[in-house]
Amino acid sequence: MYASDNIWRPFTSLVSKSKPLKIVKAEGLYLYTEDGNKIADLNASWWVNIHGHSHPYISEAIRKQLEKFGHVMFSDCTHEAAETLAKKIVNFLPQNHKKIFFSDNGSTAVEVALKISRQYFYLKGEQRGRYLAFHGGYHGDTFGGMSAAERNVFNAAFRNLLFDTFLIPLPDDDKIPDILNTIEIEHKKNPFIAFIYEPLVQGAAGMKMYEARYLEQIINRCSELGILTIADEVMTGFGRTGTFLASDQMKSKPDMVCLSKGLTGGFMPLGLTSVSDKVVEVFENENPMHTFYHGHSYTAYALACSAAAANIELFEKENTLQKVQRMESAYRNCILQLRGVSGIQNLRCKGGIFAAEADIQNYKGEDYLNPLKGKMQEYFLERGMLIRPLGNTFYLIPPYCIREEEIYSAADCFRNFVEGLER
Ligand SMILES: *Cc1c(COP(=O)(O)O)cnc(C)c1O
Repeated sequence: MYASDNIWRPFTSLVSKSKPLKIVKAEGLYLYTEDGNKIADLNASWWVNIHGHSHPYISEAIRKQLEKFGHVMFSDCTHEAAETLAKKIVNFLPQNHKKIFFSDNGSTAVEVALKISRQYFYLKGEQRGRYLAFHGGYHGDTFGGMSAAERNVFNAAFRNLLFDTFLIPLPDDDKIPDILNTIEIEHKKNPFIAFIYEPLVQGAAGMKMYEARYLEQIINRCSELGILTIADEVMTGFGRTGTFLASDQMKSKPDMVCLSKGLTGGFMPLGLTSVSDKVVEVFENENPMHTFYHGHSYTAYALACSAAAANIELFEKENTLQKVQRMESAYRNCILQLRGVSGIQNLRCKGGIFAAEADIQNYKGEDYLNPLKGKMQEYFLERGMLIRPLGNTFYLIPPYCIREEEIYSAADCFRNFVEGLER
């Protein structure tokens, strides 16, 4: 049996034969295992790492905070780390977002947004009962996050306990008129609280990319109808789509933004939800019903806030978004190389994300449980690269310190893998 015998791993069967890699050190792009292997972290440790592992600037910021204290209760106290972070992050958020609510992770950042939006209408005396979201959406593993998402294998056991969400397809040229119509008709029948979406790229659905101009039309329609908008930028934030936020690629801005994953550069768990003035105003009232009764023990965890502030400073110091641009050009070269290779479909990239489907007769289907996933992962691992495909979707979402050659080797590896599959 394995050394981790009494540990229940996330998204992993309890009878899985796969042995976790025991990591003893991580630096830049690479993870170092107990048995002496060096492995490229092409998955940025589940999409969280930004500048590379063990970046000395972030490590130092945490160390400095540790000399003062680790954590204090945030309901009655405050501290410099949280205040500095809040001041820095508002510069990267929509202009009318002045309030930041801290929590622990992406799911909690989403819960906070879902709850604030519902309480907003409650306080205005409007009994709205459902949310609007995209098919294929993923918003975390808590009940709110599951409820606002696609119904699938992740949440099947909880189906009848999830609250009501109306799902619309991802927009394209053909679908957009119908989507805009449906929103209006459904809103009249049973008004929506908020529209929650992963802007430009749906992560867990298989790095599905869609165009900003269609999303913008949906956001505008929601605003016209008085439906709040929540950009779940948990995955897309911090440069992943080429701009600091994916929402930066649109003129219309959401009422709330959820951030987590890349927020601390991948060093510490932390989530935050930013809220627009229009929503905040309704809570500015002495009546106790207007208080937002939500808080986690580690709200605004000081060590994590210090890491997040350092992470944001690095974006300026190291011109990080330019690195993402260079990654995107390398991805474009990969697309040219792989285009037309039999069994490789839907080559695409956006910012720091590259994706394609392996489309092979024996392994049809986008199902998360497609056995191709395990085969592909093993093939890459034997060649010193850690990936985590979503069904038959291969993708790269590495830390931004990756070099072009390292991107090209990963793309070659994908090609060799697909070409070597039995048909
Ligand atoms: C990962 C993710 C979440 C959940 O974040 P956790 O930190 O894993 O709870 C929510 N929304 C999106 C878009 C995500 O990619």
